[in-house]
Amino acid sequence: SDVGSQKERVVTEEEWLQKWEMDNIGFHKEEGHPLLQKYLDVLLNGRSGLRIFFPLCGKAVEMKWLADMGHSVVGVEVSEQAVKEFFSEHSLPYCEEPVPEISGAKMFQSTSGNISLYCCSIYDLSSSIVGKFDGVWDRGALVAVNPCDRQRYASLMMSLVEKNSPYLLVTVSYDPNKHKGPPFYVPESEIKSLFG
Ligand code: SAH
Repeated sequence: SDVGSQKERVVTEEEWLQKWEMDNIGFHKEEGHPLLQKYLDVLLNGRSGLRIFFPLCGKAVEMKWLADMGHSVVGVEVSEQAVKEFFSEHSLPYCEEPVPEISGAKMFQSTSGNISLYCCSIYDLSSSIVGKFDGVWDRGALVAVNPCDRQRYASLMMSLVEKNSPYLLVTVSYDPNKHKGPPFYVPESEIKSLFG
């Protein structure tokens, strides 16, 4: 199918912040995602005490699920409003601190210490800042990245995961000529070439 119509589209960080301000966040799923429940065993693979990464996390409730199971969750999100709503909607006390390596960035951490949300662009992160992860939940992330940034995003993600770690990716399938995105249509052939 023809994805040419979406290739040039760019959504700016400012536009994402506006979506949050206007409460234009139809992507947020109050009840969490059934596919994480379905594939939880694939992500955890019997292991405990994992570090799980949520790229472009919004206020995804699945972060609370995994933290409640004893894992350590790290997310990154440009909208400070989203991050604060996550903690307040789950009645989680948190503290905030600057991130010395990233100018203007803040890290919001639950007082219990097992949920750390970086408020900055994902492109500001590196494994020297956030370490490496044992698993990834990518829902509304690759498909929200601007098409021109996909390769950069995929390379960065691969640098942030430990070798052979499970990476759960949710995409959406539809005719890209009928909707401008996001979420963008990312064909399976492209996913294969991005992640190898
Ligand atoms: N994964 C979440 C949110 C999906 S919407 C969920 O499943 O609900 C995509 C989110 O990415 C938005 O909250 C937007 O503010 C954020 N975002 C967009 N570009 C970003 C970037 N470059 N770095 C970090 N967050 C970004």
